[in-house]
Amino acid sequence: MKAVTWQGKRDVRVETVPDPVIQEPTDAVIRITSTGLCGSDLHLYEVLTPFMTPGDILGHEPMGIVEEVGAAVPDLAAGDRVVVPFQIACGACWMCLTGLPTQCETTQCTGEGMGAALFGYTRLYGAVPGAQAEYLRVPQAQFGPIKVPQGPSDDRFLYLSDVLPTAWQAVEYAHIPPGGSVAVLGLGPIGDMACRVALERGAEQVFGVDLVPERLRRVRERGVETFDLRDYEDEKDLVAAVQDHTAGRGPDSVIDAVGTEAHGSAAARLVQNTAGHLPRALGARVAEHFSVDRLA
Ligand SMILES: [Zn+2]
Ligand SMILES: [Zn+2]
Repeated sequence: MKAVTWQGKRDVRVETVPDPVIQEPTDAVIRITSTGLCGSDLHLYEVLTPFMTPGDILGHEPMGIVEEVGAAVPDLAAGDRVVVPFQIACGACWMCLTGLPTQCETTQCTGEGMGAALFGYTRLYGAVPGAQAEYLRVPQAQFGPIKVPQGPSDDRFLYLSDVLPTAWQAVEYAHIPPGGSVAVLGLGPIGDMACRVALERGAEQVFGVDLVPERLRRVRERGVETFDLRDYEDEKDLVAAVQDHTAGRGPDSVIDAVGTEAHGSAAARLVQNTAGHLPRALGARVAEHFSVDRLA
């Protein structure tokens, strides 16, 4: 099959690789019909280079048609249409039963100090081949894949794999009181959806902050009050402007949806770029500590 493979820093290529096969009774193999490209993939392109291996298949936002299932996957059959979430979880361990499948004890990468395995996301998360490919092996398929109806186009369902639940969960954690207000910092895909979800769930005032005119316009058209970062001298002025809209108190909740590779912090960027050039083991340690947060 063809797959998007990582070959080195800023070097990603479509290559022909072996088709995936069922390896465990809890596996399924799906034929991908659509697959997302995520902001998270940018980290692999550059910052997380020390944790990548040439040939790694990228991607974690897929949907498709089930081709084959293992003996321990009772609820899926060939021909089913499914969306596959980013995290790989068993659904039956203590963490999964506690509602924390991203910490699944069956798949967690304890050797690396990380949580549940992820598709296409470095050796820190299990080095599981990713989904920007023609076929995908889905471990723990008795739990992960979400069956969706045949018929409507893929765009109706694809975002269930990562971006929509991420935005939904941000709003959930933000605990916006009924009729309350929320400020969403960053209006990329997650911030944009967080604004929509917050409005949908009854937030009275939603404030969106960004510096890209198209993003600001898109959320404004949906009823979000926008703040263009470029209009303010410094962050104090922006804070004051938001306070002005909330009787001087500030919003009830804030969602940081800027993402981990925000522009604006030259120092953090320098460290990250340096990490990518260090000898592998040392670079990994630097990247682990400075991670992908630019904190700007
Ligand atoms: Zn993603
Ligand atoms: Zn589990």
